[in-house]
Amino acid sequence: MAEKAVLLDLSKCMACRGCQVACKQWNDLPAEKTTFFGGPGYQNPKDLSPQTWTLVKFFEKKENGSLIWAFRKHQCLHCSDAACIAACPVTPKAMTRDKETGIVYVDESRCIGCGACVEYCPFGVPHVDEKDEKSKKCTFCIDRIQEGLEPACVKTCPSGALIFGDRDEMLKKAKAIAKKLKMAGRNPYIYGIKELKGLHKIYVLPEGLDFYDLPKSPKVPEDIGLLEGLLKPISVATLTAAAVGLAIGYLKTVRQEQVAEKEKEKC
Ligand code: SF4
Ligand code: SF4
Repeated sequence: MAEKAVLLDLSKCMACRGCQVACKQWNDLPAEKTTFFGGPGYQNPKDLSPQTWTLVKFFEKKENGSLIWAFRKHQCLHCSDAACIAACPVTPKAMTRDKETGIVYVDESRCIGCGACVEYCPFGVPHVDEKDEKSKKCTFCIDRIQEGLEPACVKTCPSGALIFGDRDEMLKKAKAIAKKLKMAGRNPYIYGIKELKGLHKIYVLPEGLDFYDLPKSPKVPEDIGLLEGLLKPISVATLTAAAVGLAIGYLKTVRQEQVAEKEKEKC
């Protein structure tokens, strides 16, 4: 099977949130009790969670006196250079990749719920479920892909904003869509060609990159290597979520101190 991708043509998204419902339905995820969130994004629920693996976010800006309103479906981007996999401390890794398709998924039988993937993902995607202490996120519907089906969100999208196929084909389509948008006077950006060595969820952002809440140059954090070093003395059999949590906490403090030091030097 070739490398796969979902193309998200946001110029066609109408924020119906059918994808959100389809994801819940296929993955048997319960609804969440939510309250209206009036901050940036305005979406409901506010963020991804162990029960919500995809979410449509809302954005607005005023331009030349008129209001521009745009939407972005958020979920795991299935990065080629995935910080979550690099950070996952168990052996073999619980956060892993299907080599053929490029899909990143959690093998729950190995997951210890330590949250290293949560801490290091540059997009805030995975969340550890308190009930079973396993990391949860979009699986790219790998169970459907293996049966020759498309992901549930793609199947349900009524506007054609989500397209599934071989990654090479999706990149070609993304470029063609961006070209058309440019000719129509829009300012499109394709997110996922080079970011983290290539994503398997590729966005065509019709309003340009700055308008949305995606990081401009996402990176695998440098101190992942230090985390590995700190955990090395602990044997695979005795590694616990608490030990990983302590190591992450220590590295966070070091990072904060370094930032404070730099700020001091500036003054
Ligand atoms: S978006 Fe986050 S969870 Fe998904 S593959 Fe990339 S680093 Fe991992
Ligand atoms: S919670 Fe820990 S063990 Fe589980 S996938 Fe994330 S990093 Fe790996």
